[in-house]
Amino acid sequence: MGETFQAPRGFHDILGSDLKKFRKITSTVRDLLRRYNFEEIITPVVEFAKVFERSIGEATDIVGKEMFVFPDRKGRLLALRPEGTAGVVRAYIQNKLYALRPYHKLFYEGPMFRYERPQTGRYRQFHQIGAEVFGIADPHADAELLKLVSDILSELNIEAVLEINSLGCKVCRPAYREALLEFLQGVAPNLCKDCIDRKERNPLRVLDCKVQTCQEAVREAPKMVDFLCDDCRKHYEKLKEYLKALEVPFRENYNLVRGLDYYTRTVFEAVSPKLGSAIIAGGRYDYLVEEFGGPPTPALGFAVGVERLMLLVEEPQRDYELFFVIPFGEVHAYALKVADTLRKKGKVVEFSYRRGGLKKQLEFADKIRADYAVIIGEDELKEGVVTLKDMRTGEQKKVKPEEI
Ligand code: ATP
Ligand code: MG
Repeated sequence: MGETFQAPRGFHDILGSDLKKFRKITSTVRDLLRRYNFEEIITPVVEFAKVFERSIGEATDIVGKEMFVFPDRKGRLLALRPEGTAGVVRAYIQNKLYALRPYHKLFYEGPMFRYERPQTGRYRQFHQIGAEVFGIADPHADAELLKLVSDILSELNIEAVLEINSLGCKVCRPAYREALLEFLQGVAPNLCKDCIDRKERNPLRVLDCKVQTCQEAVREAPKMVDFLCDDCRKHYEKLKEYLKALEVPFRENYNLVRGLDYYTRTVFEAVSPKLGSAIIAGGRYDYLVEEFGGPPTPALGFAVGVERLMLLVEEPQRDYELFFVIPFGEVHAYALKVADTLRKKGKVVEFSYRRGGLKKQLEFADKIRADYAVIIGEDELKEGVVTLKDMRTGEQKKVKPEEI
């Protein structure tokens, strides 16, 4: 017996019913993105590791523990992308898109890689579809993006709570950071080892810690919303006003900070009560383009976790009829032409490759859930017709192939 192989841990095949759900999600999201006039961009799966280190942040879980990093033959550090935004920002600047138009709306779809402990809805290779808006500072862009998120949820019939928060900006966050750090020093005995370690470097990260004791410890922590400067406050208030006008239900979560360092002002997550985790997440990142060497460009975006949504959507019904062509006797040339005629008319056709009696063939037609059996024998050949059998009613009649 030969050696048998398995996919590496956390890497998975997508097929059958799962793939149908996968395609339903991606096509629904793509269709909505089209309606909002987003343009697709395909960026490489591999970038220089520093693209992610600089943007996502060294003190985050993603960069600190979850990235697949490897040297190329010249010893330069590359990384499999753990998320989509950093690469799109890199591409936005490298292709000088900012010089073409004052703003851009881009979307991407593809695999992402994170070295995490695999569990339900959490893999080492997973898929995201994400949207990014470059060049708009006004909160109506935030509101429209959140409306798009809520459209995705309702179109896919998924129940989720949209949580929002504001993380402020360069002006107001430093004072909040100080206040939060002071608070965290006070509750330090209740924090996990990671949080004690990271609170000095990045106290906001502690608010995002999943450890129960940490979550309890920060319940009474000072809130960023109480520290917002005038501009950030106005932005946040306007966003809420627009969301109400658009009838997008939301909940404010003052401890929502997200797992990436580049966010400013608006952050949001669609949280599934059923999974107890986020299924779509995003926010504003007004300084990132500039930090990457581009011109100052406010920006925002979100990413949809496809595998997470797959746990929540129903398998789609087949939206076409299947014809099963069954030749009996020496009629194959004619039968192949009939199949061709039907396919040219846009029908979905399976040709019976195996010989066997009518009973066996019809059993197989049922097995592949054919809607019609197209039976062709010597008589049909002579008359230039086929016997079309409706598999549901059992009704059958002779028809010309081009009349089907
Ligand atoms: P979590 O808190 O669940 O680890 P995250 O904050 O790391 O999520 P983001 O970086 O915001 O996730 O990615 C956006 C979405 O991508 C998530 O809301 C989730 O649906 C999905 N996602 C993230 N990591 C994974 C993974 N390892 N496997 C499958 N889906 C994932
Ligand atoms: Mg994560």
